[in-house]
Amino acid sequence: MGGVNDDSRIRRNPLAAPVVAMIGGGQLARMTHQSAVALGQTLRVLAADPLDPAAQVTPDVVIGAHDDPDAVRAAAEGADVMTFDHEHVPPQILLDLEASGVAVRPRASALIHAQDKLVMRRALAEIGAPIPPFAGVDSVEDVRRFHDEQDGRIVLKSARGGYDGRGVWMPDSLEEAERIASEQLAAGVPMMAEARVPWTRELSAMVARSPFGQGAVWPVVETVQRDGICAVAIAPAPGLPDDLRSAVQATALRLAEHLDVTGVMAVELFEVVGSDGRPGVLVNELAMRPHNSGHWTMDGATTSQFEQHLRAVLDYPLGSTVPTAPLTVMANVLGAPETPEMSMDERVHHLAARFPHAKVHLYGKSERRGRKIGHVNVLADPGLDPNDADQVAAVRAVAELAAHWLSHAQWADGWDPHTGAPVGDFER
Ligand code: ADP
Repeated sequence: MGGVNDDSRIRRNPLAAPVVAMIGGGQLARMTHQSAVALGQTLRVLAADPLDPAAQVTPDVVIGAHDDPDAVRAAAEGADVMTFDHEHVPPQILLDLEASGVAVRPRASALIHAQDKLVMRRALAEIGAPIPPFAGVDSVEDVRRFHDEQDGRIVLKSARGGYDGRGVWMPDSLEEAERIASEQLAAGVPMMAEARVPWTRELSAMVARSPFGQGAVWPVVETVQRDGICAVAIAPAPGLPDDLRSAVQATALRLAEHLDVTGVMAVELFEVVGSDGRPGVLVNELAMRPHNSGHWTMDGATTSQFEQHLRAVLDYPLGSTVPTAPLTVMANVLGAPETPEMSMDERVHHLAARFPHAKVHLYGKSERRGRKIGHVNVLADPGLDPNDADQVAAVRAVAELAAHWLSHAQWADGWDPHTGAPVGDFER
């Protein structure tokens, strides 16, 4: 660890390959490190703790807080480029770094759209991207007015700092909405309100853009959230009409260009049924970093989102996004309510025996209820039809069984490893 210019660090990078500094030592940095290894690069991480997922694996770690200007500067020193595994670095720190010549990608002026939902909504409204009706909330009166305009179907959000559904409220009455708004405003939380969208499913479009201006886009995926956390991603989104898919991809690329994004960006969307009965979309969220909805690309695409992010922030030519299978399903491994007695390693061993084709990605995190501790990717066989609901369901079932097994040490379908036969009731 030690100082930025110490000898051990120079010795560890004998090829003088690029050093990419990533702020945050979570699983996204950990998986980006895997791609950096393959490209002969070094990923330096600014981690809060030596046991953070990425700090465990990369040799180049700066320990410090993402909101400490000195720590962020130390991480950037001598690096070719600085980028992020989360969007919580205060903008002023980044503006100061940019002013001193550090290549920050995405730039503070782009990243703000992933940091502040109100800034993002306003920018998207300006360029005519499809979004739900929204309003800034500076007072309880603002909530009352918007609640009235939307016939009570509203969502309240903290404009900054939320993730995995934290900072999102779905009030059932005006009284509840007023209470939430006044509590949050009193605590200094910047708030906004938007229409509650009667979406039919959630989608995500991942794109990449380099400073040169090259863009790349992966297939649009369907995401399934449970308790505000992404549980499953299905790539490509089954049954998505071709015209809507290409419109969504074009919108995501246009947003990346308009907002001057560098690196990868996830555009989270709601699929809705329009007044003409045809499906359409509304943009929900932007994330300017690798994203849970892109984890499937580690095994299911020619270039993963992590490799692409490195290529993009370093202004390399971007990689092919062509899928390696007709369908890939990603299921998150979320900590069980009670940590199983069986070790994780033994669980992996059993999973390998039952599903040899399931690809496991663990983050080196301790187990806690609902915590993202890993994910499983399951690729479909070459002949599968990604628009056949039964065939998709069969692949999804394997991914979900695998993820549930890894978190609970229980086969949700009652599989008996000794007889190889499913027993008992399905509890899925
Ligand atoms: P986070 O930043 O925590 O991911 P999001 O804004 O993406 O928060 O909201 C989390 C989840 O809440 C979404 O995935 C969606 O399921 C639901 N949600 C958010 N906004 C709306 C909305 N306007 N209408 C209906 N559901 C919503």
